[in-house]
Amino acid sequence: MDERAFYRESETTKPASLNCPYCRTVESYDLRWLLRKKIEQIPRGADERDRAKFAKALSYMVLLDDKVMCKNMRCRKRFDISGIKTTAFV
Ligand SMILES: [Zn+2]
Repeated sequence: MDERAFYRESETTKPASLNCPYCRTVESYDLRWLLRKKIEQIPRGADERDRAKFAKALSYMVLLDDKVMCKNMRCRKRFDISGIKTTAFV
């Protein structure tokens, strides 16, 4: 059974403080995350192995954005998101 069957996917945004490497301005950016929420009940047709996997499965989210545009009007450069974890358990 595909592990994805254990989760309900949705998108969410969360603010993060990021430091622009060009102008050094720290701003809050709303980053997009893919939220994988574990479903309450194991899907029908699960076998022993699926049950074990399901028991260990945890809700988590994965960062979708990898770049942001600097909010400083005089800079406006795109920079890589760094310094934050790109997956997180929720
Ligand atoms: Zn900047």
